[in-house]
Amino acid sequence: MPSAESRREELKAVWQQSQACTKCPQLAATRQTVVFGAGNADADLMFVGEAPGANEDKQGLPFVGQAGRLLDTLLGEIGLARGDVFVANTLMCRPPGNRDPLPGEIDACQDWLFRKLELIQPRVICTLGNFSTKLLRGDPGTGITRLHGREEIRRIGPRTVRLYPLYHPAAALYTPSMLEILRADFARIPELLALPAPDQPAPEEPELVVPEPEVVAEVAEEPEPDPVQLGLF
Ligand code: URA
Repeated sequence: MPSAESRREELKAVWQQSQACTKCPQLAATRQTVVFGAGNADADLMFVGEAPGANEDKQGLPFVGQAGRLLDTLLGEIGLARGDVFVANTLMCRPPGNRDPLPGEIDACQDWLFRKLELIQPRVICTLGNFSTKLLRGDPGTGITRLHGREEIRRIGPRTVRLYPLYHPAAALYTPSMLEILRADFARIPELLALPAPDQPAPEEPELVVPEPEVVAEVAEEPEPDPVQLGLF
């Protein structure tokens, strides 16, 4: 199994590639930044929200507005901080006017999310709200009201994880009864983290590698910005 250090290096390379993504031309044209996700590159616990809002789009970091402050509070109540977990979203780019993500956009961004899972290797994934819950469960018909607080073992792309759907903190901000449910669901996270890691799918057969033709002239590379300097991971 690749070391945490090599997975982190690869995650930085994926972050770099993601910055130029144009899979959703409309989002690429209106975004200010690509919000890849941030936190501990070797986290046992990962959160997946919906999509960046205006603050996230400006800063290039997930959950930095009011919902993010509530997320920090709830994490603090179970003895965790942002640096212990990895936070990402279903979409990396802000939908204009904060409209709902479109099915084609969710589809287009899914491979980036799966790549993060493959490299971070979380044991528990908390989906925040309907969009990420429906995407990662592959069931558009069952919503968060029925599913919140019920953990299940699920194969998600390349990994098998404990999936634990939660209400979205933004929804809980203005509804005290929902906040109490979210808080109670959060309180069970340490228990889930203490459970044995789920068995992983068998590794796929390696593909036959066709040697690349030799490169004749080396092109000088631009120095790359370092994600650490952006407070990413
Ligand atoms: N809501 C989300 O779903 N994600 C963010 O990053 C911020 C708010």
